[in-house]
Amino acid sequence: MTDVLEKGISLRGVTKTYGSTVALAQLDLDLRPGEVLGVAGPNGAGKSTLVRMIAGEERPTLGTLTFDGRPWSPSVEWQAVAVVHQEPQLFPNLTVAENVMVGREASGTRRPKLGAADAAVMEALGIGDLRNRALEDCSLATQQRTEIARAVARAARVFLFDEPNSALTAKESDELFREIHQLADSGRIVVLITHRLEDLVEQCKRVAVVRDGRVRTILEGEALTEEGLARQLVVDATVTVATDTASGATRDPNAPPVFATRGWTLPGVFSDITLHGAPNEIVALMGVEGSGARELLRSLAGLEGCGGALTINGVAGTEAIDRFTAYVPATRQFSLYSNYTVGENLLVRLGRPEIAGAAFALRKRQMKTLAEDAVKRFMVKTGSITQPIRSLSGGNQQKVAIAQALNCSPKLLLLEEPTRGVDIHSKSEIYRLLETFAAEGNSVVMFCTEVLEIYEAAHRVHVVSEGRLSPPLAIADYDHVEQLATDITRLEGEQRGGAVAAAE
Ligand code: ADP
Ligand code: MG
Repeated sequence: MTDVLEKGISLRGVTKTYGSTVALAQLDLDLRPGEVLGVAGPNGAGKSTLVRMIAGEERPTLGTLTFDGRPWSPSVEWQAVAVVHQEPQLFPNLTVAENVMVGREASGTRRPKLGAADAAVMEALGIGDLRNRALEDCSLATQQRTEIARAVARAARVFLFDEPNSALTAKESDELFREIHQLADSGRIVVLITHRLEDLVEQCKRVAVVRDGRVRTILEGEALTEEGLARQLVVDATVTVATDTASGATRDPNAPPVFATRGWTLPGVFSDITLHGAPNEIVALMGVEGSGARELLRSLAGLEGCGGALTINGVAGTEAIDRFTAYVPATRQFSLYSNYTVGENLLVRLGRPEIAGAAFALRKRQMKTLAEDAVKRFMVKTGSITQPIRSLSGGNQQKVAIAQALNCSPKLLLLEEPTRGVDIHSKSEIYRLLETFAAEGNSVVMFCTEVLEIYEAAHRVHVVSEGRLSPPLAIADYDHVEQLATDITRLEGEQRGGAVAAAE
């Protein structure tokens, strides 16, 4: 077995369906040795499914994959492909170092030993000192780095990186890209999936744009620009804009804001942020990882220790956060209890005294009614409330996560990437839920990485770049999502360029 694939990998007519969801629809793609192929696409486009197909973790419903002209075969190919998954797939009870070595053949009864090369890779990714720590005691960022280290340290011929640098610092990202290019230069096939248009343009010669389960275009040469990619990601998407007429709500410009920050600062991440949210308003914060946008959202939920002032519903500081905010994280494993039922997950954050005080039989009946009401109100598609939450699709799990958050009756709902891994149909239902909640006089702030999401769900967007907030763009001013994509990309570029745009 040679170390490199001379002809590469070809996918022809690859289709993958999950029940009625079509994740890949007759996708064609060629992966060539020696290049870093970029893959871009909106959430739900099928990128992660594509990765699982190439890795042989799942088989296509239809279509073929060939490795060097031969049909894909499990006995050879699974060893040949190393994957960094979007959601780390690791062993929590093993240490960082053990996770890096997982899957290697040990000789006899001896356990595989950490070599100098492994140690160097771990060092470069900033996890050298943590090698003997159990993974379950490590942050998500460390877990992601561990998965990257495991892939890079493997003698594979194909390397698939699915949004690998979302938890890395700029310096660690540079280090990762250096590794990625070394792999390509030595004749490996490398695929890089990311939402960071800048990285795609800088690191790749070709970028495949995937929409609705198909490769729609491949940008290269002069055509490969951030603006060009931004347009391709949204072109001919069917979107419905969040309109006030749809929700029946109107925003009174003189109404006091639901929340406001002043001098809001997280040292080294963002500084002096002035942001507010009106009643009935959905505000989007757009920014790539490392821009500070995600941290800014999380800080409003009290998850980052910030300086400056925050007022919500007339109350200041941590008391306001405790009383009036609810937060839905991007990773559903942090908001849902995976071994609970749908009903239990819907009620778990509910501390209603009338339920706690009632007799057991009554309590049980009331809880059943409440859970069933929530299933209806939040459009959760489930056989019954006693089904395990794991059996639901990503989109329906996310509706449960939002229902859970709204059970706390917040004034300010904070969401990170509300439709990551969610199918198109559930997406629009989730946007409607947010709109309904806002229309009751509340505020929503969401951290987004996609223009389409902003166009469809938000009323106003700020671009966050290097810890600074751009002036707002009003979504109602845009007749076409492509124009919004262009303006957002321009604002991002300007801010990176150092032209300090003052916040409103
Ligand atoms: P991307 O990585 O581009 O965001 P995915 O490949 O994760 O997209 O998902 C593509 C579509 O397939 C989405 O609609 C998603 O909900 C659906 N999907 C992905 N994996 C599964 C699964 N295991 N079961 C059911 N639906 C799935
Ligand atoms: Mg994905």
